[in-house]
Amino acid sequence: MLDIASKSARSYAGDGSYPGSYYAASRNIIRTPKVLEGDVEADVAVLGAGYSGLSTAIHLAEKGYKVVVVEGAGVGWGASGRNGGQVVNGLNASLETIRRRYGEEAGAFVGALVQEGGRIIRRIVGQYGIECDLKDGNIYAAYTAAHMKDLEHKKALWKGYGMDDHELLDREAIRKLVNTDAYVGGMLDRTGGHMHPLNLVLGEAAALETLGGVIYEQSPVTRVEHEAERPVIHTAKGRVTANVAVLCGNAYLGDVVPKLVSRVMPVSTQMIATEPLGTERADALIPSDMCVEDVRYILDYFRLSADKRMIFGGGTVYGGTDPADVRAKLKPNLEKVFPSLKGVKIDYAWSGNFALSFSRVPQMGKIGKNTYFAHGYSGHGVTGSHLFGKILSEAIHGDLSRFSQFERLPWIPFPGGRTFRAQYSTIGSWWYQFKDAFGL
Ligand SMILES: Cc1cc2nc3c(=O)[nH]c(=O)nc-3n(C[C@H](O)[C@H](O)[C@H](O)COP(=O)(O)OP(=O)(O)OC[C@H]3O[C@@H](n4cnc5c(N)ncnc54)[C@H](O)[C@@H]3O)c2cc1C
Repeated sequence: MLDIASKSARSYAGDGSYPGSYYAASRNIIRTPKVLEGDVEADVAVLGAGYSGLSTAIHLAEKGYKVVVVEGAGVGWGASGRNGGQVVNGLNASLETIRRRYGEEAGAFVGALVQEGGRIIRRIVGQYGIECDLKDGNIYAAYTAAHMKDLEHKKALWKGYGMDDHELLDREAIRKLVNTDAYVGGMLDRTGGHMHPLNLVLGEAAALETLGGVIYEQSPVTRVEHEAERPVIHTAKGRVTANVAVLCGNAYLGDVVPKLVSRVMPVSTQMIATEPLGTERADALIPSDMCVEDVRYILDYFRLSADKRMIFGGGTVYGGTDPADVRAKLKPNLEKVFPSLKGVKIDYAWSGNFALSFSRVPQMGKIGKNTYFAHGYSGHGVTGSHLFGKILSEAIHGDLSRFSQFERLPWIPFPGGRTFRAQYSTIGSWWYQFKDAFGL
């Protein structure tokens, strides 16, 4: 266990290369990185070229701001270029949790915006012609009657907040959409979806550049003067001075901004991609071609790629280290859902870090007068990061109404500080795995 904590800060790929993922192998844009050197001035300096940073940057550049993004590795090198590609509405913490913990007003506020992230993605993809195989529909899969009860409750709750897009599925109905005996039922959300995550983020970077934004890559930020009236982002070879800085390093920020360290913890999750299965075999497994995630705490999530591979994720390591053998870890889970894939060749296996917040509610806020941050989507951040980027852009443009609602939500530091937080969370995760295993 000590090993997990000591390795919790993962460094960048020195040459800016991507992990050996299926996404990196099938990306449709190869960038020529520009390294930050010397002094640069901007209206807004953004740290991190993932969805959070680029959504903030695009929304601001569209309003005419001069935006500079500084990325330590390459565009989408972090979670945004490695994830399951599942466009799932909502923040990780459920509306029920938010309502219970923060009150009715906060519940209504969040309830009104949980579908907005998906709309932002579709708007940006459509407007800038991003080729990322975006498709509609996601399925929540239930293993037990208790899971089904939770889904029924979720459907009713979302309906109460004006969203009537969910369809409950019994065993037969879910089997028609995803061909496995594993589930007792589930719920379909047609407003969800899936896509090639690295091609999305690379397309967003290209969109930003057409708007006049500048992206520096292979330029790890070593220090941020966030208390200054005009914040300064420093790298080994240069610095950006701006009216406003936005910190979107999420799980990979490490210790660079000490004030943010105890707010989130890096957690790694793993993915595999099979060999191409052929259209007939692949479509027989997921006839709906939607993405699927089950509703356990330590969940499986999967979908078909455009070239008909099964892209399958799951498993977590608190502290953010890679397991020794991702294939060995995930194959049994894959074969449990789809026994007919026993023995299938796994072409790619990789791992990536998301940022867990203690409450599983993502956070945004300010450190210093003109330095903002957003992070902590807790494993469900494809839509949340796009939404938070937009809300940050509104705040920087002078409309603080939605930013303030999130900023004032209380947050809890991880117990145990930096040394023991991974151990505490591992213990927590064992408890949830125990609950999953016994259907509690
Ligand atoms: C394997 C995996 C699967 C996932 N699957 C899903 C899914 O299917 N659906 C879903 O909703 N969510 C999923 N998530 C979560 C989702 O991908 C993230 O919440 C989201 O991408 C976060 O975006 P971000 O821009 O905040 O962070 P990131 O994409 O991690 O971007 C942060 C960027 O900041 C850069 N950076 C950090 N520190 C510095 C520094 N000091 N200097 C310069 N640059 C720096 C990093 O290099 C990185 O590029 C998954 C996450 C992982 C890891």
